[in-house]
Amino acid sequence: PIDALRKTSGSTEFLGYTTTESTSELIGIIAEKQLVDELEEVGHTDPIGVVLDQTPFYGEAGGQVGDTGVITGGGFQFDVFGTQKDGELIVHFGHLRRGMLSVGATVTTQVASEHRAGIRRAHSATHILHHALHQTIGEKATQRGSVVKEDALRFDFAHGKSLTRAEIRQVEDIINARIAEGSEVGTQVMDLADAKKLGAMALFGEKYPDRVRVVTMGDFSVEFCGGTHLSNTGQVGFCKITSEEPVAKGVRRITALTGPRALERIRETEDLLEEMVKILKTPQPSDLPRRVEVLQEELRDAKQELAKQSSQSVAGTIDELLAAAEEVDGVKIVACVPENGTREVLRDYADQLRSKNIPIAIVLGAEVDGKAALLTCVSKGLIERGVKASDCIKVAAKVAGGGGGGRPDMAEAGGKKPENLEEAVAEGAKFYRGKLEG
Ligand SMILES: [Zn+2]
Repeated sequence: PIDALRKTSGSTEFLGYTTTESTSELIGIIAEKQLVDELEEVGHTDPIGVVLDQTPFYGEAGGQVGDTGVITGGGFQFDVFGTQKDGELIVHFGHLRRGMLSVGATVTTQVASEHRAGIRRAHSATHILHHALHQTIGEKATQRGSVVKEDALRFDFAHGKSLTRAEIRQVEDIINARIAEGSEVGTQVMDLADAKKLGAMALFGEKYPDRVRVVTMGDFSVEFCGGTHLSNTGQVGFCKITSEEPVAKGVRRITALTGPRALERIRETEDLLEEMVKILKTPQPSDLPRRVEVLQEELRDAKQELAKQSSQSVAGTIDELLAAAEEVDGVKIVACVPENGTREVLRDYADQLRSKNIPIAIVLGAEVDGKAALLTCVSKGLIERGVKASDCIKVAAKVAGGGGGGRPDMAEAGGKKPENLEEAVAEGAKFYRGKLEG
């Protein structure tokens, strides 16, 4: 439908560089992909497109988002939530709130000024950022793309490595110095050749028309740009870089906030610190790092103490286990499922049992994260007698619903049936007994 409209109506004149309101003529309505002359249905799920002969709404282009606002006239109200550029036409997308739209109607437009102001701050800050990057890391940091929204911007540029913390600080300092200087922002439409003479920074790979719009800031920035800007850099208020990251090979991305949103970000960080102060019970945010260090030390000490105690308790249990173990042909068979066992605990048990230097065959089990864990182990001399831990583990693991393996002297397995652990360990012991008696 937009092509048909282009043929009959040509183009939309953009008035938004100098004004945020206008009286215009409605020249096209697009509803459900059809061009219609009239529309009175309120409550469309799909957005409706409205085209005017002239408009102050900026159609999304060059990375700058479209304007929002309202179009009214003859008893109707059309809320615009976005504006797109389609060739020479500017399409306002939104919903009809009341009344009826009709082609030929005289309408009043009103761009949402807060939204527009935030976009102007972010866009002007983008040009200043471009300059600050050149100052900090050099002219090779050419622009590779940008997105400008309400008090938020994203800027992609050519650079092979991440910026250091010091470089990011420097870029931020330069931007805010240029803001504080309050330099004049000027726009001119001129011949491309003249613009190039002025040193306007061309966007990589971009084709420019013979007549171009050039945006200048103080004596530090000259750029080709069709976007909406402030009249003075001071109106940015404040700019805060929030991230620097890679997006492609040799391309980095800086994200930043401007005006009230930049201030909001600082406050969020303050709130976060305030919350940490409460949770960690420190007098001041500046005490936080020391407090965390102390807590980490305490935690490390507590873990060490716990490990020592559990090792001691294992040692006590080992003696009990040996005393209670059955003996077959001079070999102790130790089969058990220790309470609160973990894989580490099982290994600890095995190590301590083997360190007794007596002929021994061991099968141990533990429930770990809802699964069965098994460990078998035999003293060296038993392998020569054909008693292998790697054989025993297969028998035990089968009962615990799993499988595993390992070396003849030591093997581990997992299983899906922790409820069968006791039985699995008993089967392991039976296997040892059978081998030793056989
Ligand atoms: Zn621009």
